[in-house]
Amino acid sequence: MKIIRSPKKIQEEMEKLRRQGETIGFVPTMGALHEGHLSLVCRASKENDRVAVSIFVNPLQFGPREDYKKYPRVVTRDTAILKKEKVDYLFCPASIDLVGSRFSTRVKVSKLTEHLCGRYRPGHFEGVTTVVAKLFNLVKPHRVYFGAKDYQQAMVIRQMMEDLDFDSGFVLCPTVREKDGLAMSSRNRSLSPADRKRAAMISKILFQIRGELCKNKKLPGVLQKARKALAAYTDRLQYLEIVDPKTLAPLRKSQPRMVALAACFLGKTRLIDNVIIHL
Ligand code: AMP
Repeated sequence: MKIIRSPKKIQEEMEKLRRQGETIGFVPTMGALHEGHLSLVCRASKENDRVAVSIFVNPLQFGPREDYKKYPRVVTRDTAILKKEKVDYLFCPASIDLVGSRFSTRVKVSKLTEHLCGRYRPGHFEGVTTVVAKLFNLVKPHRVYFGAKDYQQAMVIRQMMEDLDFDSGFVLCPTVREKDGLAMSSRNRSLSPADRKRAAMISKILFQIRGELCKNKKLPGVLQKARKALAAYTDRLQYLEIVDPKTLAPLRKSQPRMVALAACFLGKTRLIDNVIIHL
């Protein structure tokens, strides 16, 4: 596995591959890798000649009171994991080389970023799309891989790719879960043992919503009950919504395809999860 820190160098290496006619699958991450990330890597390996993974804790996507400084950084461990997965390129730039003090451009997707996490994390998606656009320009992959775990983020990136004519294929991979249903996340490691136990309720409630809507129960009643339950089990409920999978607009009645999404705090840890619902 080639480990590359310089943006110029990754651009050159990727250009070389493309000239040789090799296809590149790209998996952007913030590190502290788990099975969720590895499912993306695995899919990328199956569908491309070469796989590039980036690890970059993106300062632009964290708000001033968020956990940028505390976000887990375990690069040595991550590197060993990616080597074992036979990843070809690991791109792990220093923050100043990617978004240094003179950096002054922003990529902003409107509409899709206005609800859900966008309401509670002002500037978050702008930070994500700015850096992801930059990574796409460096790697120019044939296909990019994102997890349904961050459903809104995936939709926002897909919109950016469509609007700005990025011509990589976009692949959405299913959420990987722990045995008790908790969606895998780098942030799970900051939960206390008691909070870790409680965290299983988030997915339980989301799956319950899916079950009830599949049994034709009325959406407003299902949502109200679920909100009450999630607010009771967690320390702070930010949102629990049932939305249209494309527009992310909240729904008042059931339709064939929906997504139920939640964000809440357990202690100081903010967790998000969602389930995709097909009636
Ligand atoms: P992150 O390192 O949290 O920025 O995540 C990098 C990529 O991995 C994003 O596309 C996430 O959606 C994806 N991802 C994170 N957790 C999971 C999971 N449990 N299952 C599937 N994909 C995931």
